[in-house]
Amino acid sequence: MRNTEILFDASAAERRMMIETQIRKRGVSSPRVLEAMAAVPRHEFVPLKFRNDAYADKPLPIGEGQTISQPYMVAAMTEALELTGSERVLEIGTGSGYQAAVLSLLVRQVITVESHTSLALAARERLTNLGYANVHVHNGDGSAGFLGAAPYDAILVTAGAPEIPQVLASQLREGGRLVIPVGDRNNQELVRARMENGELKSRVLFNCKFVLLLGRYGWSRQGGNHSRGHVAGIGSNGKRRP
Ligand code: SAH
Repeated sequence: MRNTEILFDASAAERRMMIETQIRKRGVSSPRVLEAMAAVPRHEFVPLKFRNDAYADKPLPIGEGQTISQPYMVAAMTEALELTGSERVLEIGTGSGYQAAVLSLLVRQVITVESHTSLALAARERLTNLGYANVHVHNGDGSAGFLGAAPYDAILVTAGAPEIPQVLASQLREGGRLVIPVGDRNNQELVRARMENGELKSRVLFNCKFVLLLGRYGWSRQGGNHSRGHVAGIGSNGKRRP
């Protein structure tokens, strides 16, 4: 066996281990999601100095004070989007591009928006080099969504928001799903909402902790948040609201 094949096998084995010990065990069971997690080389999305930890059960720094999410979180959020293959998905918070790569194997097209120019450029280059051709990276404030390609079948926000920006709901098609961490600056709840008869019906999935969604409909850098009154109802009790 050549060296490259040995290396490839080693990372594939690490991914299988990651799936069994971190992801399936915690209840993510969708075969399509688990296959996508097994296929994407997470180590390629992690800075060189953290490569040894690429398959560890934790988020890792990616620069600009941001992180690539824990593998379980990526899998759980992806499963919550209930993707079947034909969707066009908007991701807000490209970061390393890892979540976008996982999504790209499960849907027709991924539009992803990142506010840090350096991260957006690096993710775009990485995704292109790795052959994820159905991902389109944009640099800008994604707290307002991305009107250019709306409406979406699913929207995933990978940074914590003070509330669900109403503008995102308006970019979701009927039946579409929105997954977003909502809460204060230190702790959030992962919320899944669905557009039903023109209204967002939401439920809380579990507690989580994300870096902050900054921007017009997110948090301000100084403190407080920008949004006033543009709140789509979310139940804090884990129950769907009528
Ligand atoms: N999904 C990423 C991890 C996201 S970390 C991955 O797989 O690596 C959250 C990201 O959201 C950070 O990169 C941060 O810069 C970005 N972000 C925060 N506010 C944003 C906004 N308003 N618009 C776009 N991106 C934003």
